[in-house]
Amino acid sequence: MEKRYDLVIVGTGTAAMTAAMRVRAAGWSVAVIDFRPFGGTCALRGCDPKKMLVSGAEVIDFASACARTASLESCTLIGRH
Ligand SMILES: Cc1cc2nc3c(=O)[nH]c(=O)nc-3n(C[C@H](O)[C@H](O)[C@H](O)COP(=O)(O)OP(=O)(O)OC[C@H]3O[C@@H](n4cnc5c(N)ncnc54)[C@H](O)[C@@H]3O)c2cc1C
Repeated sequence: MEKRYDLVIVGTGTAAMTAAMRVRAAGWSVAVIDFRPFGGTCALRGCDPKKMLVSGAEVIDFASACARTASLESCTLIGRH
């Protein structure tokens, strides 16, 4: 069965989804295709996984520093950046 769209977007990352939502809002019909799972690099392999790994490393680093110094000030996690 043949289907026609005003626009076919390759990818489901940030760029593709921004374009898809804008043209959809303008009334276009849009098809989105990807050969990988939906979400693109940032959500699945880039920004978000990286932030989880960095956060985990920061907690381990903090706990190590806390164990070394054992001072109450260095063990205050709230408000750290
Ligand atoms: C480790 C890492 C950490 C990052 N951290 C940050 C960060 O903290 N902050 C930040 O702003 N940016 C970060 N980035 C950059 C960010 O991920 C990219 O700038 C962003 O994902 C680019 O979006 P995009 O839509 O252009 O491409 P992508 O998100 O890569 O999307 C492209 C999509 O197209 C699909 N595709 C490609 N070719 C085909 C094809 N032939 N057929 C079908 N589908 C296809 C791919 O499967 C993919 O899903 C990071 C990148 C990496 C790798």
